[in-house]
Amino acid sequence: MTKLNFADLGLSPEILKAVADLGFEEASPIQSAAIPVLLEGHDVVGQSQTGSGKTAAFAIPAIELCVASDRSVQVLIMCPTRELATQVADEVHKLSAHKRGMHAVPIYGGASYERQFFELKKGVQIVIGTPGRIMDHMDRGTLQLGSVKMVVLDEADRMLDMGFREDIEKILSATPNERQTVFFSATVSKQIRDLIERHSNEPKSVKIEQKQLTVPAIEQWYYEVQQRMKFETLLRLIDFHGYKLGIIFCNTQRMVDELADDLIAQGFSADRLHGGIAQAQRTRVMNKFKKAEFEFLVATDVAARGIDVDELELVVNYDLPYDSEDYVHRIGRTGRAGRKGMAITFVSGRDIYKLQHIERYTRTKILRGKIPTAGEVEERRAEAMVQKVREVLNRGNLSMALTDRLLSEGYNSTDIAAALFELLAGPEAAPEKEIDEPRKKSAPSREEHLQDSSPNLRPASRGMQWVRVGAGRETRISPRDIISLLEDSLGLPVRSVGIIDILSGQSFAQVPQQFLDVLRDAPRLVETNAGDIQISLAPVEDSKKDYQAGPKKKFSKKSKGPK
Ligand code: ADP
Ligand code: MG
Repeated sequence: MTKLNFADLGLSPEILKAVADLGFEEASPIQSAAIPVLLEGHDVVGQSQTGSGKTAAFAIPAIELCVASDRSVQVLIMCPTRELATQVADEVHKLSAHKRGMHAVPIYGGASYERQFFELKKGVQIVIGTPGRIMDHMDRGTLQLGSVKMVVLDEADRMLDMGFREDIEKILSATPNERQTVFFSATVSKQIRDLIERHSNEPKSVKIEQKQLTVPAIEQWYYEVQQRMKFETLLRLIDFHGYKLGIIFCNTQRMVDELADDLIAQGFSADRLHGGIAQAQRTRVMNKFKKAEFEFLVATDVAARGIDVDELELVVNYDLPYDSEDYVHRIGRTGRAGRKGMAITFVSGRDIYKLQHIERYTRTKILRGKIPTAGEVEERRAEAMVQKVREVLNRGNLSMALTDRLLSEGYNSTDIAAALFELLAGPEAAPEKEIDEPRKKSAPSREEHLQDSSPNLRPASRGMQWVRVGAGRETRISPRDIISLLEDSLGLPVRSVGIIDILSGQSFAQVPQQFLDVLRDAPRLVETNAGDIQISLAPVEDSKKDYQAGPKKKFSKKSKGPK
């Protein structure tokens, strides 16, 4: 869509100054298209979506048309409601601020007639009002329309829907025939076409196609997930679908920083973009991401404007955006160049209402996704592994030397294969913890069960190891508490602690292996206001006798440091 500079539209210096005051950098498409045609004096039927700047598109030519030294009504603008009339009047006031002698007045029902009489009597060039109130003033003889050069019908379709047709026709008939007539409407129905035909003269049509709001190739899913489970859910979805390149949007700079750190702690290559980062660094990050030099970009809306990466598979709304339009901008980053894209939105608590609003706005259905269970993630991984082996088998031409060696030692081929699978899978135990699954009342919950057996944790990420903290959720200990507890007692650098799971009776956190030598020989006991808390390596298969029962009292932030 072509956008022009206001300076290229042939406008007066007064208008250009006003436009600059308003902070408009360039004319919107409907302004670029309609203003020149209106300045030439043609009748116009304009169509474009809401928020596209229609007001200035007709107000600027209207102001240019007015002779400021003449105090008769020269432009009449009709709007469907009082609110719209005041809004349009505001914009007319601003746009005419530098044109001396110009006066515009809104007239509408409910406001004091006194004031409106007074203004009209003083003389104004532009009158803005609802058809009903304009009729009132005409009937009372307080509004003379004999010098009108332009009539604008803003939101003509709505005015007809509201039953203003008769009033509109009467008003139009009361103005001179040689006037310029301007219709703006979101839709042009048969009714409006009739009206246009009877009251305008060879009108030019200026239509800006409604931007496609969403890219059809994008699949859109939402997941209902509590704030504290968002990270775990994100990891599962990435694992399950095997995403390699994506943007993850958060609403605040702080959240961007936290999430980028957490992803890096999980062994992903990730970087961040937000308004708090210096421009030079932002450009660097942007360019690296465009070349797919890292996997996940965590960003705020503003910082991610204009990112254009064709291979982008995934956009995640880690936080739901405040504004429906931001949603569209965010997910429009993927599915480019006809590629398939995926947009995932996390929804927690009352977000669900905002999501419905977004659905209405984009006229699309966002489907509810089910978070894959740890078992399903594992099954996917297993299938991928088996598939790899299949491919090697199908390729054929395998060297048997090592197999033969093991066979000759007396192992059978099934056992050898099973052992190789285990090696291929790595040292990972099957993760079992479920996210937000409803728990049966009768049987002891998994977490209670965990208290007196060794935990079956998801494998720690590359370079990380699980550490057990002997305080669970009864103590109301928070992830932040655990981080400072570990940082203080183990002397960890800031931001080195990764994923944290707070369970019943105990918690677990991932810590980079290189900092854990201090725990190799013996657990550490940290004295806190809640009682002593034991910190040890986990899982320790058969040494649960070493676990000291944790405190049940409420944890309070001030730990007294290691004993
Ligand atoms: P419409 O009538 O098409 O729904 P409006 O005229 O009410 O849209 O304009 C929507 C918003 O955009 C207003 O806040 C207006 O000040 C602003 N706006 C209009 N034109 C421009 C422009 N050229 N540059 C920046 N903002 C603009
Ligand atoms: Mg409007």
